[in-house]
Amino acid sequence: MKLGASYFGNRIVRYVAQDMKNMVDHHCNYVIHTFSENDFHFYRGTMKEIVKVSHDTGLGVYIDPWGVGKVFGGEAFSDFVMNNPHALQVLSDGKPVGVACLNHPDFRAFMKDWIDAAVETGADCLFWDEPHFYLPSWMGGRQNTWGCLCAVCQQKFEAKFKKPFPKEETEEVVAFKESSIRDFLEEMIVYTHTLGKKNALCLLPMEDAAHALVHWDTFASISGLNVFGTDPYWYGREKEVRKFVGHFSRKVAQLCKGTKLEGQIWIQGFKVPAGREEELRTAIDIAVEAGIRNLALWSFEGCALMSYIRSDNPEKVWEIIGECFEKIKDLK
Ligand SMILES: [Zn+2]
Repeated sequence: MKLGASYFGNRIVRYVAQDMKNMVDHHCNYVIHTFSENDFHFYRGTMKEIVKVSHDTGLGVYIDPWGVGKVFGGEAFSDFVMNNPHALQVLSDGKPVGVACLNHPDFRAFMKDWIDAAVETGADCLFWDEPHFYLPSWMGGRQNTWGCLCAVCQQKFEAKFKKPFPKEETEEVVAFKESSIRDFLEEMIVYTHTLGKKNALCLLPMEDAAHALVHWDTFASISGLNVFGTDPYWYGREKEVRKFVGHFSRKVAQLCKGTKLEGQIWIQGFKVPAGREEELRTAIDIAVEAGIRNLALWSFEGCALMSYIRSDNPEKVWEIIGECFEKIKDLK
């Protein structure tokens, strides 16, 4: 059983050491450290120390391109976006948006530099966190727009479909976006694999054209991938825990069946409303029932440190997670 939690917001190594011990006391055997562009530029040496102290405490280490290029999930800003206006996604209103284009060669080159630095930290596994094209519902989004219509995307689309880039977001545009996300990931994952590190992919819990995530099987089949999963966070989406977590856990388990992939499910440990903490036990039970043997919590201590997404009772969330993890830690 692999049990983990994400960790961010603190770069003081002696306190990280205390918190890693706390994670082990809550029966975690791995940690996901965020490695944002801020970390990439200013904390590279510190991140090595943080990874080392995590290993020394007995934890495996994943590392996450948190908010990098704003192509991945995470509450972190992007320097790449500020300094590379030529490599941004362009929306249907004709203007750029603060998200790098994952088809742009300069962003892909930057990602390779990020991978080199992530590998240098000594982490065991790179965690590809919610890769996506521009989504209007995310911070900085503009209503009734879609992307990407940058020159690189237009050129790639026209080469693939032998027709001009459409004015509307047609089915072909959606297929192009999905294959672009896959192609981008494959390039990053293969590169990471050749550097001797593991790869984990976490898709947004969506199966629709709006997110260009329709054919999950094509993502699960990326060569060099070791862990495949999703993060069916139910509290904010007003979804019923049993249905939502159950559906995605079974889907992930099914896609991993008969492959070497480990199925991973993320449990929502942020913005947990007061009085609904017991749903965490249901979510974990249901994922385990579906055959998932790799579970992780976003985030350490119920996200107590970040007011924007803190749970109403973060201590209670963390306590329940500790109890659940203790109960399942020896499952095969
Ligand atoms: Zn583009």
